[in-house]
Amino acid sequence: MNIIMLGAPGAGKGTQAAVLCEHFGIPTISTGNMIREALKNGTEMGLKAKSYMDDGKLVPDEVVIGIVKERLSEDDCKKGFILDGFPRTIPQAEALDAMGVEIQYVINIDVPDETITKRMSGRRVCENCGRPYHIESLKPAKDGVCDDCGGTLVQRKDDHPDTVLARLAVYHKETEPLAEYYRKQGKLVNVAGKDTVAATTEAVLKAIEA
Ligand code: AMP
Repeated sequence: MNIIMLGAPGAGKGTQAAVLCEHFGIPTISTGNMIREALKNGTEMGLKAKSYMDDGKLVPDEVVIGIVKERLSEDDCKKGFILDGFPRTIPQAEALDAMGVEIQYVINIDVPDETITKRMSGRRVCENCGRPYHIESLKPAKDGVCDDCGGTLVQRKDDHPDTVLARLAVYHKETEPLAEYYRKQGKLVNVAGKDTVAATTEAVLKAIEA
Protein backbone atom coordinates (compact mmCIF):
# COMPACT_ATOMS: atom_id res chain seq x y z
CA MET A 1 0.00 0.00 0.00
CA ASN A 2 1.48 3.34 -1.09
CA ILE A 3 -0.13 6.39 0.47
CA ILE A 4 0.38 10.16 0.22
CA MET A 5 -0.58 12.44 3.12
CA LEU A 6 -1.71 15.82 1.86
CA GLY A 7 -2.73 18.92 3.80
CA ALA A 8 -1.55 22.22 5.22
CA PRO A 9 1.40 22.42 7.60
CA GLY A 10 0.03 21.44 11.00
CA ALA A 11 -2.97 19.58 9.57
CA GLY A 12 -1.82 16.42 11.33
CA LYS A 13 -0.18 14.60 8.42
CA GLY A 14 2.73 13.37 10.54
CA THR A 15 0.50 12.20 13.37
CA GLN A 16 -1.80 10.26 11.04
CA ALA A 17 1.17 8.91 9.07
CA ALA A 18 2.51 7.43 12.33
CA VAL A 19 -0.81 5.63 12.86
CA LEU A 20 -0.80 4.21 9.33
CA CYS A 21 2.85 3.24 9.63
CA GLU A 22 1.98 1.15 12.68
CA HIS A 23 -1.23 -0.21 11.16
CA PHE A 24 0.32 -1.40 7.90
CA GLY A 25 3.90 -1.98 9.08
CA ILE A 26 5.30 0.25 6.36
CA PRO A 27 7.74 3.18 6.66
CA THR A 28 6.83 6.86 6.71
CA ILE A 29 8.93 9.00 4.45
CA SER A 30 8.86 12.56 5.72
CA THR A 31 10.84 14.93 3.53
CA GLY A 32 10.73 17.57 6.30
CA ASN A 33 12.31 15.12 8.78
CA MET A 34 14.90 14.03 6.21
CA ILE A 35 15.88 17.63 5.50
CA ARG A 36 16.08 18.46 9.23
CA GLU A 37 18.23 15.35 9.73
CA ALA A 38 20.54 16.43 6.89
CA LEU A 39 20.80 19.85 8.48
CA LYS A 40 21.62 18.35 11.88
CA ASN A 41 24.35 16.28 10.25
CA GLY A 42 25.72 19.36 8.51
CA THR A 43 25.48 17.92 4.98
CA GLU A 44 25.74 20.24 1.99
CA MET A 45 22.10 19.64 1.09
CA GLY A 46 20.97 20.33 4.64
CA LEU A 47 22.85 23.61 4.80
CA LYS A 48 21.45 24.69 1.44
CA ALA A 49 17.91 23.87 2.57
CA LYS A 50 18.20 25.79 5.85
CA SER A 51 17.47 29.29 4.54
CA TYR A 52 14.38 28.12 2.62
CA MET A 53 13.06 26.24 5.63
CA ASP A 54 13.69 29.04 8.10
CA ASP A 55 11.73 31.45 5.89
CA GLY A 56 8.84 29.03 5.48
CA LYS A 57 9.61 28.56 1.79
CA LEU A 58 9.83 25.34 -0.15
CA VAL A 59 13.19 23.76 -0.85
CA PRO A 60 13.74 23.60 -4.66
CA ASP A 61 11.93 20.74 -6.40
CA GLU A 62 15.06 19.09 -7.83
CA VAL A 63 16.60 18.75 -4.36
CA VAL A 64 13.53 17.16 -2.77
CA ILE A 65 12.80 14.94 -5.77
CA GLY A 66 16.37 13.60 -5.58
CA ILE A 67 16.03 12.77 -1.87
CA VAL A 68 12.72 10.97 -2.37
CA LYS A 69 13.91 9.00 -5.37
CA GLU A 70 16.88 7.70 -3.45
CA ARG A 71 14.82 6.85 -0.36
CA LEU A 72 12.12 4.99 -2.33
CA SER A 73 14.75 2.74 -3.88
CA GLU A 74 15.62 1.32 -0.44
CA ASP A 75 14.47 -2.20 0.45
CA ASP A 76 12.05 -1.29 3.25
CA CYS A 77 9.87 0.61 0.74
CA LYS A 78 9.19 -2.50 -1.35
CA LYS A 79 6.09 -3.51 0.63
CA GLY A 80 4.71 0.02 0.69
CA PHE A 81 5.26 3.45 2.21
CA ILE A 82 3.58 6.61 3.41
CA LEU A 83 4.75 9.90 1.98
CA ASP A 84 4.40 12.75 4.48
CA GLY A 85 5.13 16.22 3.09
CA PHE A 86 5.86 15.09 -0.46
CA PRO A 87 4.76 15.93 -3.10
CA ARG A 88 4.16 19.60 -2.30
CA THR A 89 4.13 21.00 -5.85
CA ILE A 90 2.74 19.86 -9.19
CA PRO A 91 6.26 19.26 -10.63
CA GLN A 92 7.00 17.01 -7.61
CA ALA A 93 3.81 15.02 -8.23
CA GLU A 94 4.69 14.70 -11.91
CA ALA A 95 8.19 13.51 -10.98
CA LEU A 96 6.66 10.85 -8.71
CA ASP A 97 4.43 9.67 -11.56
CA ALA A 98 7.45 9.64 -13.87
CA MET A 99 9.28 7.35 -11.38
CA GLY A 100 6.54 4.80 -12.07
CA VAL A 101 5.41 4.81 -8.43
CA GLU A 102 1.83 3.52 -8.00
CA ILE A 103 -0.13 5.41 -5.36
CA GLN A 104 -3.37 3.90 -4.00
CA TYR A 105 -4.61 6.71 -1.75
CA VAL A 106 -3.97 10.41 -1.35
CA ILE A 107 -5.37 11.40 2.04
CA ASN A 108 -6.14 15.10 2.12
CA ILE A 109 -6.55 16.29 5.71
CA ASP A 110 -8.68 19.39 5.68
CA VAL A 111 -8.20 21.91 8.50
CA PRO A 112 -9.20 25.61 8.39
CA ASP A 113 -6.37 28.17 8.52
CA GLU A 114 -7.56 29.62 11.89
CA THR A 115 -7.30 26.18 13.50
CA ILE A 116 -3.86 25.68 11.97
CA THR A 117 -2.43 28.91 13.36
CA LYS A 118 -3.80 28.11 16.83
CA ARG A 119 -2.47 24.57 16.73
CA MET A 120 1.01 25.40 15.55
CA SER A 121 1.88 27.48 18.57
CA GLY A 122 1.44 24.39 20.78
CA ARG A 123 3.20 21.96 18.50
CA ARG A 124 6.41 20.32 19.68
CA VAL A 125 8.59 17.74 17.98
CA CYS A 126 11.19 15.32 19.23
CA GLU A 127 14.55 16.77 18.22
CA ASN A 128 15.91 13.26 17.91
CA CYS A 129 13.30 11.22 15.98
CA GLY A 130 10.90 13.92 14.75
CA ARG A 131 7.74 12.50 16.37
CA PRO A 132 5.14 15.27 16.72
CA TYR A 133 3.36 16.22 19.97
CA HIS A 134 1.09 19.02 21.15
CA ILE A 135 1.21 20.70 24.55
CA GLU A 136 -2.57 20.28 24.98
CA SER A 137 -3.94 17.65 22.64
CA LEU A 138 -1.11 15.19 22.20
CA LYS A 139 1.01 15.16 25.34
CA PRO A 140 3.91 12.80 25.96
CA ALA A 141 3.78 10.60 29.07
CA LYS A 142 6.53 12.74 30.61
CA ASP A 143 6.63 16.50 29.96
CA GLY A 144 9.16 17.51 27.32
CA VAL A 145 10.36 13.95 26.66
CA CYS A 146 9.62 11.75 23.62
CA ASP A 147 7.68 8.54 24.43
CA ASP A 148 9.49 6.65 21.66
CA CYS A 149 13.15 7.52 22.05
CA GLY A 150 13.51 9.70 25.17
CA GLY A 151 14.62 12.68 23.02
CA THR A 152 13.91 16.27 24.01
CA LEU A 153 10.75 17.93 22.68
CA VAL A 154 11.34 21.32 21.06
CA GLN A 155 9.41 23.94 19.10
CA ARG A 156 10.48 24.04 15.47
CA LYS A 157 11.85 27.39 14.37
CA ASP A 158 9.43 27.39 11.43
CA ASP A 159 6.46 26.87 13.80
CA HIS A 160 6.77 30.45 15.05
CA PRO A 161 3.69 32.55 14.13
CA ASP A 162 5.17 34.68 11.30
CA THR A 163 6.69 31.70 9.58
CA VAL A 164 3.46 29.74 9.94
CA LEU A 165 1.62 32.45 7.96
CA ALA A 166 4.28 32.29 5.23
CA ARG A 167 4.01 28.50 5.12
CA LEU A 168 0.23 28.66 4.85
CA ALA A 169 0.49 31.09 1.93
CA VAL A 170 2.93 28.73 0.18
CA TYR A 171 0.59 25.83 0.90
CA HIS A 172 -2.41 27.53 -0.71
CA LYS A 173 -0.44 28.56 -3.78
CA GLU A 174 1.77 25.52 -4.42
CA THR A 175 0.34 22.50 -2.63
CA GLU A 176 -3.44 22.90 -2.59
CA PRO A 177 -3.67 22.37 -6.39
CA LEU A 178 -2.44 18.81 -5.79
CA ALA A 179 -5.88 17.87 -4.45
CA GLU A 180 -7.34 18.48 -7.90
CA TYR A 181 -4.38 16.70 -9.54
CA TYR A 182 -5.09 13.53 -7.55
CA ARG A 183 -8.86 13.89 -7.70
CA LYS A 184 -8.54 13.59 -11.47
CA GLN A 185 -6.50 10.41 -10.98
CA GLY A 186 -9.30 9.02 -8.77
CA LYS A 187 -7.00 8.71 -5.73
CA LEU A 188 -8.12 11.58 -3.51
CA VAL A 189 -9.85 10.98 -0.19
CA ASN A 190 -10.84 14.05 1.81
CA VAL A 191 -10.83 13.77 5.58
CA ALA A 192 -11.91 16.44 8.06
CA GLY A 193 -9.04 17.11 10.46
CA LYS A 194 -10.19 19.97 12.62
CA ASP A 195 -11.44 17.97 15.61
CA THR A 196 -9.53 15.53 17.82
CA VAL A 197 -6.62 13.37 16.70
CA ALA A 198 -8.71 10.27 17.46
CA ALA A 199 -11.64 11.49 15.33
CA THR A 200 -9.30 12.20 12.43
CA THR A 201 -7.66 8.79 12.75
CA GLU A 202 -11.06 7.12 12.70
CA ALA A 203 -11.99 9.05 9.54
CA VAL A 204 -8.66 8.22 7.87
CA LEU A 205 -8.96 4.49 8.55
CA LYS A 206 -12.57 4.46 7.40
CA ALA A 207 -11.72 6.34 4.21
CA ILE A 208 -9.17 3.75 3.17
CA GLU A 209 -11.21 0.86 4.59
CA ALA A 210 -8.29 -0.25 6.73
P1 AMP B 1 7.49 19.78 7.09
O1 AMP B 1 8.21 19.17 8.24
O2 AMP B 1 6.89 18.74 6.18
O3 AMP B 1 6.50 20.84 7.48
O4 AMP B 1 8.62 20.51 6.21
C1 AMP B 1 9.39 21.57 6.74
C2 AMP B 1 10.06 22.36 5.64
O5 AMP B 1 10.91 21.50 4.86
C3 AMP B 1 9.12 22.99 4.60
O6 AMP B 1 8.58 24.21 5.04
C4 AMP B 1 10.07 23.14 3.43
O7 AMP B 1 10.96 24.23 3.60
C5 AMP B 1 10.88 21.85 3.49
N1 AMP B 1 10.21 20.75 2.74
C6 AMP B 1 9.73 19.59 3.23
N2 AMP B 1 9.17 18.84 2.28
C7 AMP B 1 9.29 19.55 1.13
C8 AMP B 1 8.89 19.33 -0.22
N3 AMP B 1 8.23 18.22 -0.60
N4 AMP B 1 9.18 20.31 -1.12
C9 AMP B 1 9.85 21.42 -0.78
N5 AMP B 1 10.23 21.71 0.47
C10 AMP B 1 9.96 20.78 1.43
